[in-house]
Amino acid sequence: MSASLQLGRYAGIKVQIHWTFWLLFIFIAFLVFANDGTWIDLFWHSVFILALFLCVVFHEFGHALAARRYGIGTRNITLLPIGGVANLKEIPDNPKEELVIALAGPAVNVVIALLLYPFVPLDQFLIDDPELLEERLTGITSDNFIFYLFAMNIALVAFNMIPAFPMDGGRVFRALLATRMSRVRATRAATALGKFMALLFFLVGLFTNILLVIIAVFIWFGAHSENIAIQQLSLLEGNDVRDAMITDFTIIKPTDSLQNVIDRILESTEQDFVVAENENVLGILYMADLSVALREKGRDEVVENVMEKNIIKLNAGDPLPTAYKQLKRGNKNFFPVMENGRLVGVLDMNNINEFLNFRAAYDY
Ligand SMILES: [Zn+2]
Repeated sequence: MSASLQLGRYAGIKVQIHWTFWLLFIFIAFLVFANDGTWIDLFWHSVFILALFLCVVFHEFGHALAARRYGIGTRNITLLPIGGVANLKEIPDNPKEELVIALAGPAVNVVIALLLYPFVPLDQFLIDDPELLEERLTGITSDNFIFYLFAMNIALVAFNMIPAFPMDGGRVFRALLATRMSRVRATRAATALGKFMALLFFLVGLFTNILLVIIAVFIWFGAHSENIAIQQLSLLEGNDVRDAMITDFTIIKPTDSLQNVIDRILESTEQDFVVAENENVLGILYMADLSVALREKGRDEVVENVMEKNIIKLNAGDPLPTAYKQLKRGNKNFFPVMENGRLVGVLDMNNINEFLNFRAAYDY
C-alpha cells in the first residue's frame, strides 16, 4: 500500500502510481544517454511518458466507468511501468457486459487519437525521403511530440486488442465465445490462447524489449489465475451457503475483553468472531482490528469498541457462488450466516477453499 503514490480520487475512483513506475524513467534516461542524447532530450522523453500515461489513465477510466454502468465498482486505477490496471471489484458473468467494459478502454484511445488528429502535422511525416524522415522521427522533440502521441494512442488500441486474455482483446474474445458456449469452456479456450500469446511476447521481447517480457509474465499468470477462479466458481454451482458454512464456532459478547478473545484465538483455529447478545448479531471482531486495538488500547478494552458494526449477513439459502464473489470483493472475508433471523453459521474464504478442495477431489 505505502509503496504506491496516491494521486487522489477522480469520479470517486482512487488513482495511484506503483513505485516500480519510476523505474521507467531510469530506463528512459538510460536509453536517451546511451544514444548520445542530451538533458533536453531526456526532458522531452519524460514529458512524453507523462502525457502517454495520462492517456493510459483515461483508458482505464473507460473500463471503470463502463463497469460502473453495470453496478461494478473499481478498487483503484494503478499505473505500472508496463501500463495501467483498473482493479474492478468483479468481472461480470454477462458476456455482453464484459464486452462493453473491455471495449470501453481502447475506445477512449480512439477518441483521443481523433481529437489529436487535426493537430498532427502529417505532411511532415508522410514523405518519400527516408533520410529526412529518419531525422524527423529520431527521438522525441517538440516537433514530433504530437505525432508520436497520436501514433502511440493508435498503437495502444492495436496492442490492447491482441487476443491475449486477460488483456482487453482477450476479454473480447472470451465474451464472444461465451455467447456460444459455457463461460467455463470459453475461459479455458481464451486462457490457452492467452498463454500462447504470452509465450510469443516473451520470446519476441527477449530480443527486442524487456517491457514486453514483463507484460508476457503478467498475461501468463493473469490468465492462469482467472481461469482457476472461473473453474472454482463452477464447482460451487448448485450449492447453498448452508453446504459450506462453519457451524461449530464461538460467539463472543460485546462486553468481553480483548484478552478473552486472544485466549480463544490461541486455543482454537478461529480468527474472526461474530459478536452477538441474546441471538442478536451486533458486529464482527476481525483479528486484524484486534491486533491494532491491542497496540493502541491494551487488552482490557471491550469488544464492543473494536468490532465492525457495519457488516453484511448472508442467508443459509443464498447460492454459494454469489457468496464466494461477495467474499472476494472485500479484504475482510468473514460473514455471519442467518436463517429465519437466527444466527446458524459463519462463512470465510478458508472454508470455501476446503469445500472446493473436496469438490475438486470427487468431481474429477
Ligand atoms: Zn484496457
